[in-house]
Amino acid sequence: MRLKCKDVIYDLTKLTEEARTKQFAIWHQLNKKEKLEIFCCCNEMANIYPPMHVRYLSQTDKYIIANHSLKQEDDRELHDSSCPYNNTFRKTLNQIGINYDEEKDMFSVNLSTKRKKAANTSESSSTSSYRTGTRATRNMASTDPMNRLYYLFLTMLEYRRVEKYTPEGSRNLKGRIWSAAEHVQVNRKLLKDMLYIAGTDEKKINKKIQLIVGWGNKVTHEPDPDIKFPHLMRIPLLALDKRDQLSIEVTISKSVYNKGICFDHLDVKTGYWLIWKEAESPDDWPKEKEIVFVPADEKTGIPVESGLELKMLAHLVQKQKSFKKPLIQNVIELDLDLRPDMVVYGENEKIAIIEVAGFEDDAYREKLEWKRKKYLEKGYQYLQWEGKSSLEEWDELNNL
Ligand SMILES: [Zn+2]
Repeated sequence: MRLKCKDVIYDLTKLTEEARTKQFAIWHQLNKKEKLEIFCCCNEMANIYPPMHVRYLSQTDKYIIANHSLKQEDDRELHDSSCPYNNTFRKTLNQIGINYDEEKDMFSVNLSTKRKKAANTSESSSTSSYRTGTRATRNMASTDPMNRLYYLFLTMLEYRRVEKYTPEGSRNLKGRIWSAAEHVQVNRKLLKDMLYIAGTDEKKINKKIQLIVGWGNKVTHEPDPDIKFPHLMRIPLLALDKRDQLSIEVTISKSVYNKGICFDHLDVKTGYWLIWKEAESPDDWPKEKEIVFVPADEKTGIPVESGLELKMLAHLVQKQKSFKKPLIQNVIELDLDLRPDMVVYGENEKIAIIEVAGFEDDAYREKLEWKRKKYLEKGYQYLQWEGKSSLEEWDELNNL
């Protein structure tokens, strides 16, 4: 996370644990003398800076960054919808089975497929309220490891701000996923130690690897049944740092592939392949157990939920707009309980909400109309695209 203090920006992810502790101790001391103002930078694109403070934990002799206690409840909603200090975000993650430990700055989740049969069915009803758009996961229990894997990955992308785009920023997807993995524990082990990211550099998949992440392109590199062994599927993984280059091919059983979430019904051919592996016993090599495809834009790596969203996103990139595409949460920091598809940060602090309307039914239209009114009431610009009119000729959008 990034913090602002006396107009200096501190990127905590770039500091060693020691340097971080030292900085926190200095702030804690300073705050005793003068009122020191520290702010979270999660929402700087909207020019909102939620106040934070340093807390000393005497039991563990540790300093942590916490929400400012005076106006806690209000401030928590000022955080970006994907900032771990946002209360609603944390609650949502919790329901999916992802916990966030503020003290350790660590997400934890259980992905073991062995728990599957013991899954508590009462938890499943809560899934429907999440923003997925990718309906396939909606009907699945939140305790299902595949669903968790999907959400965990989105959480990791949001943690390293992949869902945000600014024309001048670099994307560095591989680096961002690596650094997110330092803050995730899967089945009580650090994800970084069991993660393989397909890249241009050569590295073997060893016995410790349980999660494989690679780029996918279902047109140029389609998964194929093995010619010699038809019960096997070969998944070509492209490099995350050079997304037109084949990095490695992973072979998984056809039954695992067939029960995977691949979103073939969506008109999006590029995205991330996630392959989860697990060993039967501690001495065995882990075997492929789950596969998930996360549809995403090739240029930015930002996940999308439909072909129309992909077109809109590509257009915003081409027009050099700054925007974000919320992945898990509503855009609550804008006080909108409405789940917009995209938020564009235009000139002069103007904020525009974009809805990509893909369905024709009346109930859906009614809901959109209600949303439109709410957005306008709150002073945001609202643009709705049904995929028919030309984006290139849409001045209202292009002049944002
Ligand atoms: Zn924040």
